[in-house]
Amino acid sequence: MTTTASSTTPTSDAGSLPVVPHWIDGTEAPSTSCRTAPVYDPALGVATKHVALANQAEIDRAVASAAAAFPAWRDLPLAKRQQIVFKFRELLEAKKGELAEIITAEHGKVVSDALGEITRGQEVVEFATGLAHHLKGEFSEQVSTGVDVYSTKQPLGVVGIISPFNFPAMVPMWFFPIAIAAGNTVVLKPSEKDPSAAIWLAKLWKEAGLPDGVFTVLNGDKEAVDGLLTHPDVRAISFVGSTPIAKYVYETGTAHGKRVQALGGAKNHMLVLPDADLDLVADSAINAGFGSAGERCMAISVVVAVEPVADELIAKIAERAATLRIGDGRRNCDMGPLVTKVHRDKVASYLDIAEADGATIVVDGRNTPIDGDPNGFWLGPTLIDNVPTTSKVYTEEIFGPVLAVVRVASYEEGVALINGGAFGNGTAIFTNDGGAARRFQNEIQVGMIGINVPIPVPVATFSFGGWKDSLFGDTKAHGAEGVRFFTQQKAITSRWLDPSHGGINLGFPQN
Ligand code: NAD
Repeated sequence: MTTTASSTTPTSDAGSLPVVPHWIDGTEAPSTSCRTAPVYDPALGVATKHVALANQAEIDRAVASAAAAFPAWRDLPLAKRQQIVFKFRELLEAKKGELAEIITAEHGKVVSDALGEITRGQEVVEFATGLAHHLKGEFSEQVSTGVDVYSTKQPLGVVGIISPFNFPAMVPMWFFPIAIAAGNTVVLKPSEKDPSAAIWLAKLWKEAGLPDGVFTVLNGDKEAVDGLLTHPDVRAISFVGSTPIAKYVYETGTAHGKRVQALGGAKNHMLVLPDADLDLVADSAINAGFGSAGERCMAISVVVAVEPVADELIAKIAERAATLRIGDGRRNCDMGPLVTKVHRDKVASYLDIAEADGATIVVDGRNTPIDGDPNGFWLGPTLIDNVPTTSKVYTEEIFGPVLAVVRVASYEEGVALINGGAFGNGTAIFTNDGGAARRFQNEIQVGMIGINVPIPVPVATFSFGGWKDSLFGDTKAHGAEGVRFFTQQKAITSRWLDPSHGGINLGFPQN
């Protein structure tokens, strides 16, 4: 079976373009809403397909299918559930090149980077192949005379996953391998900007032997999101996206009685101390600032240079930026286009703001030569020095290849700046002073910290998530927190009857 991205009968909105359908009951479900949105190839600058946007009837159908599949999936022996996850992992490993091409064609990131995101998602699949270990309960013998207490972890039921455009494979894979292995059924609402990866993953699950209804893809926009947030049969929501929507999802979902984890936006700083290896810092700033065109929630967007390093460091970053090849992700370039024209223009508008606010544009991405179609959504790597911390270039998440430099006089000033920000997703310190690094990891108000590592995304056995406006709810993705999110515990107190313990006693039982 070839797990290609799919297409079905076009709707009137789509003209002659194919329409990415939903995936319900183990098969493609063409749109019945007659509402679609265009999906672009960002390197060509043209819509290549449309995506179905669900209406209420489709939302109800998707959730009903997932709810119907739940009891049998929950009751399937754990070993059998894990075997299906194993099979999914093997198929993913064998076929991930196909998925990478689909991602590049809709997101724009270069193929090697698309493969990288799949590999990081696959880590969570591999974690879930051993979930039996994490689903073990606890047991305390003889807590009272003849009484034992033990706990079990059970699945919740139907869980919703709502994902952003920037990692169409990895972010859903932060959640669904654990949710499914734990015995839940999943409704995934992917980003409408790059929906085909989700359908490809659904077909892979089918090939791996997952029963119909355990993994559903509901394509759509706000209507689909609101439908999941308010549906009485959806027990939990895992969301990843921008901060305003994360906050809305958290508030709406919890108001409707759901367990919600909502990961939001970011503005990640890299603090560079004067003793750091500036070649390593410059390489890291380039990789973490411009990889995936800066469309990563763990991208570095601000370099905080503790003087006197700024001039030398900026020269090294600018020199490296000039060597990058920007163009079509299928042509072995270093960096691809931005996801849509609207987003490209919004990111470029921050260069005008920087100029108006008195910052210095050292490398101007508007002038970068491009190896790609002139209609693509291009903006080259941009480096801006002397960014005032009152400027929107500093305070707002730009989510593009724009690296700001802020100069500070001391370590303390740098830490105060980072801790004063609204976001707390990731941060990094570059230094050769172990004492300074240790102090930083203790003092900084951020959820994920790199020490001489610019994008400190924890491996799957740990949990991923930020602090402050980067995470609403108290549970992070994958690792132990992921298992906790997708399970509910029962505590069982048991006594096998002994006639000597009869009798009436209205007080709390004691030893
Ligand atoms: P987005 O918030 O626009 O969209 C995310 C999801 O929410 C999509 O599925 C979208 O359909 C839905 N959505 C959009 N508007 C909505 C509305 N008004 N009501 C209900 N649902 C709505 O985010 P995006 O542009 O797709 O992704 C980029 C953002 O995601 C950035 O802010 C980035 O930092 C963030 N992000 C965060 C993490 C993290 O781990 N913290 C990871 C990846 C991306």
